Amino acid sequence: MSMLKGKVAIVTGGSSGIGRATTCAFAAAGAKVALSSDLNLQGGAETVRMITDAGGDAFFIKCDVSKEEEVKDMVAETIKRYGRLDCAFNNAGMGVPESLIADQPSEHWDQIMQCHLYGVFYCMKYEIPHMIKSGGGSIVNTSSLAGLKGYPGLSSYCAAKWGINGLTMTGALEYAKQGIRVNSVCPGWIETPGVIHFAEMFPELAKKVIDGIPLGHGGKPEEVADTVVWLCSDSASYITGVNLAIDGGIKAS
Ligand code: NAP
Repeated sequence: MSMLKGKVAIVTGGSSGIGRATTCAFAAAGAKVALSSDLNLQGGAETVRMITDAGGDAFFIKCDVSKEEEVKDMVAETIKRYGRLDCAFNNAGMGVPESLIADQPSEHWDQIMQCHLYGVFYCMKYEIPHMIKSGGGSIVNTSSLAGLKGYPGLSSYCAAKWGINGLTMTGALEYAKQGIRVNSVCPGWIETPGVIHFAEMFPELAKKVIDGIPLGHGGKPEEVADTVVWLCSDSASYITGVNLAIDGGIKAS
């Protein structure tokens, strides 16, 4: 597959889960990939190794997406190494302990907003000028089904993901004329290491969730990754401003 041959991509949160699967899928599609995360440096190195072992080109940058200067540096490092930017998967995100709105510590709310919503904003802010210089590009932000519905106990996460969807639609309108497409993916229950761990700890809760999925099973990180690569490719050239559920049909039910 060479859908992205000659392209350069950034992936945040590339040390694990959906980000790792997408980094590998970008590389398999022919793109050079700059991947980042903030804490799991070993995971980042492992993703790079998986790609180089398969003959691809990738490198890791330590970056906390909630810090504007670090995001600016990450994008600059990518340009220094590869000379251009065509695709970005703004995906980094953290888990959220459940809490009702009235019990929510404000510091916790700030932390979720900084990581998810500000993180995507900072990435778009520094990626877009380089995409304009490259003659266009494609941005995919990771939202969630929680960006399309409400979930009791997850107010900060829902608010951040709804915000990402608004940012996605607005970015699509602001930069359409410059050839930049902006979309988001809204995953449902995807079997990443964290979700698998959660299902092992709370099997009855996990069964209840899976019983509510019309397709009858959770998704694989690779199923999100393939969608992101497709959205970044010319095969999706007329798609922009879309917040796409990848959820086995939950949103439709
Ligand atoms: P994951 O396996 O835990 O991966 C999360 C990635 O984000 C890791 O690489 C992590 O690296 C990185 N990260 C977290 N905080 C960061 C920060 N401040 N700066 C930079 N990197 C940071 O989880 P995942 O399920 O693949 O999640 C990826 C995205 O999908 C998230 O945005 C999540 O909200 C979204 N999502 C997931 C599901 C699902 O079912 N799995 C459903 C809906 C949406 P470090 O460990 O180094 O921090």
